[in-house]
Amino acid sequence: GIGPYDPQNIFARILRGELPCKKVYEDAYALAFHDIAPKAPVHVLVIPKGAYVSFADFSAKASEAEIAGFIRAVGMVARDLGLDAPGYRLVSNTGAEGGQEVPHFHVHLFGGRALGSMLP
Ligand code: 5GP
Repeated sequence: GIGPYDPQNIFARILRGELPCKKVYEDAYALAFHDIAPKAPVHVLVIPKGAYVSFADFSAKASEAEIAGFIRAVGMVARDLGLDAPGYRLVSNTGAEGGQEVPHFHVHLFGGRALGSMLP
């Protein structure tokens, strides 16, 4: 949901370099790294550099440049991992009922196997 941003959340600490990550990509707007508990052969998390709690927060408050930069970064990560041709899945859990555990907006990028069509 949209509460105050906790600067001690685990992704904030990764962004500050206080905790390690297996980095895949970084630019002015985004950082991408491998999920610590992968649910697919490729499971990468893409996070904006700005302090946004969730998709709800990011979509409401981020600048056009931040939004565009972030979306471009997600696409570049997928392309660079060779996933454009086989395909992939993007997921963003938002808030309690959305199953969000880490309160810094992130997009999950899943690929590397047939994921099927079952949602959610
Ligand atoms: P959420 O449920 O918030 O959408 O997903 C959080 C994700 O972050 C989970 O898939 C979890 O495995 C991952 N995660 C949690 N802590 C860490 C960490 O310290 N490092 C990395 N790389 N991933 C983490």
